[in-house]
Amino acid sequence: MNRQMASLEPDWPAPLNIKVLFSDRRGGCSHVPYASLNLGSHVGDDPVLVARNRASIDVPGEPYWLEQTHSDICINADVGATDRRGDASITREQGKVLAIMVADCLPIMFTSRGGDIVGVAHAGWRGLANGVLSSTVMALGSGSLLAWMGPAIGPCHYTVGEHVRASFSSGRGFVKRSEDTKYPANSDSTESKFSMDLYAIAEEQLQSLGVEVYGGGLCTYCDSARFFSYRRDGVTGRMGGFIWME
Ligand SMILES: [Zn+2]
Repeated sequence: MNRQMASLEPDWPAPLNIKVLFSDRRGGCSHVPYASLNLGSHVGDDPVLVARNRASIDVPGEPYWLEQTHSDICINADVGATDRRGDASITREQGKVLAIMVADCLPIMFTSRGGDIVGVAHAGWRGLANGVLSSTVMALGSGSLLAWMGPAIGPCHYTVGEHVRASFSSGRGFVKRSEDTKYPANSDSTESKFSMDLYAIAEEQLQSLGVEVYGGGLCTYCDSARFFSYRRDGVTGRMGGFIWME
């Protein structure tokens, strides 16, 4: 293990056999603009360095990587799916490490009160609009579930257009910005702009599904020393969220 690799401790009352590791950008070997712990092999970084970074992640087995597409697809990692296109996964197998990659989208970890199942989901606005959280909760079953939300772009830095807001039936999580705010800054668009709170929307969806929700509130855009942010930097690395049962 790379001793400098830093990770977040999730603040949730998960059973003791549930382990979570969320890597931030520190402690890897990639160079600018991927400096330094980039785990994404699809973002233009040197594959040798990405492999070295991935090998430095302190998890008990090869992570179950997904080919993320902003869908609502949740894969059962225990059935040996060869098609890894999906934005969530679950497992009931001890020691199997689920993985998700993010740089602004919201990573969410799941487990049950009994600690006999874990799940992970990648939820940007498209995933939230497409229902990735409801398909993940369905796959996890009807037990008493807990969720932890990791770092994502916060409403302080996330401006979206009317077409995004219109994808959600509830108005929760959207605040209209003043008319002279343009996003992107050089755009001539007169579409109304809103600040979007991924955390508030995910929390509302999860609570309506009966899930207890923890975490949230860390903005990836705000903290450039610690987090990759696609909206801030464009070309950048990816952080990883990992969960497994001991
Ligand atoms: Zn921010």
